[in-house]
Amino acid sequence: MKKAIYPGSFDPVTYGHLDIAQRAAALFDEVIFVVAVNPTKVPLLSTAERVKLIEIATGDMKNVKVTSSADLIANVARVESAVALIRGLRHVSDFEYEFQMAMMNYHLNPDVSTVLLIPDEKYIHLNSTVIKDIVRLNGDVSRYIPDTVLAALQNKLIS
Ligand code: ADP
Repeated sequence: MKKAIYPGSFDPVTYGHLDIAQRAAALFDEVIFVVAVNPTKVPLLSTAERVKLIEIATGDMKNVKVTSSADLIANVARVESAVALIRGLRHVSDFEYEFQMAMMNYHLNPDVSTVLLIPDEKYIHLNSTVIKDIVRLNGDVSRYIPDTVLAALQNKLIS
C-alpha cells in the first residue's frame, strides 16, 4: 500500500490542484490532501471550509482522502506512513522554492520522497490568489474552479 500526501494551502482548491491529485492518484494507492494550517498566513477560507470543498471536488476519486494539520509536513508523512510528498510544479520559478522545501523535508524525514508533478498546460498560469482577485471583480473563473468553490468564494468576497 503506497500512500502519498499532497500538502498545501488550497485557499481555495482549483482545477490545477485537482489535476495534480488525479495524476498522483494514478501513481499511488492512496493520496491524502493535507490542508496546512499555517498561523503566519491568513487564509480567506477556514480550514474546515477548505477541507469540505476538497472533499466535494474529489468525491468521485476513490483513492483520494482529505485531512488538515498544523504539524510539520515531514511529521504528517511519518504519521500517515506516506512514501511520497506530492507538490505541483508550474513554472521554473516554482522550482527554487519546491527544491528548497524538498531538501529541508529530506533532512526532517529521509523516508519520504518529494514527487513534483506538472499539470496540464491549461492550469500552468493558475493559482489561488488570481482566482480570488477575479471572483472579487466578478470575472469568469468557471474553467478553473468547480461551482461549489465559486459559491464559497462569492459568499466571502461579494457582499
Ligand atoms: P502552498 O501555500 O503550500 O504553496 P498552494 O495551495 O498554493 O499551497 O499549492 C499547493 C501545491 O499545489 C504547490 O505545490 C503548488 O505548486 C501546487 N499548485 C498550485 N496551483 C497549481 C496549478 N495550477 N497547477 C499545478 N499545481 C499547482
